[in-house]
Amino acid sequence: MKEIKRYAGVDFFRIPAAALVVAIHTSPLASFDAGADFFLTRVLARIAVPFFFMVTGQFVVSGLWDMQTGRVMRYVKKTALLYGIAMLLYLPAGIYAGHYQELTFADVLRMLVFDGTFYHLWYFPACITGICLLYLLSRFLNKKQVFAAAVLLYIIGLGGDSYYGLAKQVPFFADFYETCFSVCSYTRNGIFMAPLFFMLGVLADEHIPDDRRILWAGLCVSFPAMTEEAYLLRAFRLQRHDSMYVLLPVVMFFLYRLLRGRQIKGIAYVVPVSTRIYILHPAMILVVRAAAKVTKFTILTENSLVHYAAVLLLSAAVSLLLVIIRKRTGQVQKASAFGARAWLEVDHAALGHNVKMLQEMLPQSCKLMPAVKADAYGHGAVLVAKELQKAGVDAFCVACAAEGVRLRRQGIRGLILVLGYTHPQQFPLLVRYKLTQTVVDDVYAERLNRYGKTIHVHIGIDTGMHRIGVRSEHMEQILHICQMRNLSVDGLFTHLCTSDVMTERFVNYTVAQAQAFYHVVEQMQAHGYACPALHMQASYGVLNYPELAGDYARVGIALYGVLSTKEDTEQWSNCLKPVLSLKARIASVRTLYQGESAGYGIQYTAERDMRIATLSVGYADGLPRALSCGVGSVLIHGCLAPVIGRICMDQMTVDISGISNVRAGEEAALIGRCGDLEISVCDVAKQAGTITNEILSRMGARLERVRI
Ligand SMILES: *Cc1c(COP(=O)(O)O)cnc(C)c1O
Repeated sequence: MKEIKRYAGVDFFRIPAAALVVAIHTSPLASFDAGADFFLTRVLARIAVPFFFMVTGQFVVSGLWDMQTGRVMRYVKKTALLYGIAMLLYLPAGIYAGHYQELTFADVLRMLVFDGTFYHLWYFPACITGICLLYLLSRFLNKKQVFAAAVLLYIIGLGGDSYYGLAKQVPFFADFYETCFSVCSYTRNGIFMAPLFFMLGVLADEHIPDDRRILWAGLCVSFPAMTEEAYLLRAFRLQRHDSMYVLLPVVMFFLYRLLRGRQIKGIAYVVPVSTRIYILHPAMILVVRAAAKVTKFTILTENSLVHYAAVLLLSAAVSLLLVIIRKRTGQVQKASAFGARAWLEVDHAALGHNVKMLQEMLPQSCKLMPAVKADAYGHGAVLVAKELQKAGVDAFCVACAAEGVRLRRQGIRGLILVLGYTHPQQFPLLVRYKLTQTVVDDVYAERLNRYGKTIHVHIGIDTGMHRIGVRSEHMEQILHICQMRNLSVDGLFTHLCTSDVMTERFVNYTVAQAQAFYHVVEQMQAHGYACPALHMQASYGVLNYPELAGDYARVGIALYGVLSTKEDTEQWSNCLKPVLSLKARIASVRTLYQGESAGYGIQYTAERDMRIATLSVGYADGLPRALSCGVGSVLIHGCLAPVIGRICMDQMTVDISGISNVRAGEEAALIGRCGDLEISVCDVAKQAGTITNEILSRMGARLERVRI
């Protein structure tokens, strides 16, 4: 089993959470002590389902506010499918148990939408209805207002759950809940319970990692308090059901924050296995009972703890087996960018491949510090950084503080180096989000030092590019910066400006830059300074000058599987794989009759009757306008369709005369593969008279980024 670093704390917790769900349905301690069993199944285990809701909230539902509705809708579809499969799986058991006798239409609806068709399956409709509800709310309200609405719904839910005994004292509420219960059996469902935990998950990304001591203190106070709450409610017999407590969201808040800050090694199989345990364990309860009967091994059902262990182990084993089989059969995932007009596909396997190849070109001691600036060269910084973090990368570089802040808020850990200038008004961000700042020159170093709080920096050394950095010959300035009280000098770097071209003049220049850099390092050591982390290679540095490896390599363009020019990309094509594809929807197909002209400035005139297609993508999405009028082409049904007329801001037209059966709603590839043909980003760059870096980094913000 391959171990990879993921959102480890959160992922890891899925297994105990799944084990707790199994506990709810098997009551492990029932044979020993009713009180202990109450604590385990009615108090402790009540954190399991909210935890799963929060994970979904953080990683999926947050899309409602990040313009990633497609991600949310894909999840809903997937959940509905899973629900469908689980319903079928449990149909025989449900029929056997007599769940479906004399059902009215209202009963069926209640089961499908709220209760689930088998006892544990309520979770799936709760996910779906909860997300749909939040989707509706998010159309009219902002995040905070939706959160407030979710709190309100939860409070209403409490009145129908643990606090029903109190609520029904008031005639109005008694009537209200009676009406409620004619529609759904419990208030722990997608309307009253799930939304709050989804929102707590969504908001988990809002702030930076908090002080762990405070979080621990919060958990240590709130959990016993919730336990007390549960026991009081039980003592006064107020509970109708016991899934919701006033303090449960508080406990979950602290617990979740503690988990997400945790760096444990996660196991790649945890996520799918935990989902399957959730779905399968009631079936395994039946299997264990049947086995006990057949084998007369009655301890399996009579001792609650043995029973629990048997069910849990069997569920886990079967789940693991299913996951392994599924991975073996290796189904290929296909992204469909749910209804998007134009979107980018990010091939995570290609990205992983490039990481591995680049890492292999470097000595073990040199780590990758991928450049995820400019939204990871258009690929989507958060998506790419998360993917890299999973692959074990723990250092990143960005262009500005805002880019660093965004990554931190999305849970990216490790070193984040800001390569460019940060205005003093934004120094607080550097400290608050633990960003490392580049010293752009000696004056700037003074300014950073004057801020008064410790700032982590890497000193830029100007060895010949003359863009930023302290001049390498100004050793006294560099040493002076090292002495500054409030600067923690963690690194020293320079940037090579001719490492991409291997002609004599440029090679000499690179060698001179490297010598100047090493000279600075030697002088620092001679003056007794501990040598900080060193780095000078970007992508071309790694490929053309592997011997210049330092402690880090700031790889950008190569990581995305291409190089700046078509020629270079072809030269290295056997070790790098392009990561990005740009796709767009065909909006309309029509005939352009002989002699008619099309588009702004009627630049194109049909020489004979022809078929044309309008695509819902334009230069605002990053496709250069220079590709207008036949310079560029797109791929449809694996055939080349040349651009006709001028590319507009949001739309463009192509000639599809040679391609049969093209329909509106189908996809066109603007960058990427389609059938046997490929349009590479290098082709687009060449046609537009620029380098791939520019094309990629200008991919439009409104394109949805889809991981495939
Ligand atoms: C952008 C950038 C990089 C990455 O460059 P690539 O050529 O894309 O690998 C590295 N270092 C600095 C200082 C940069 O600005």
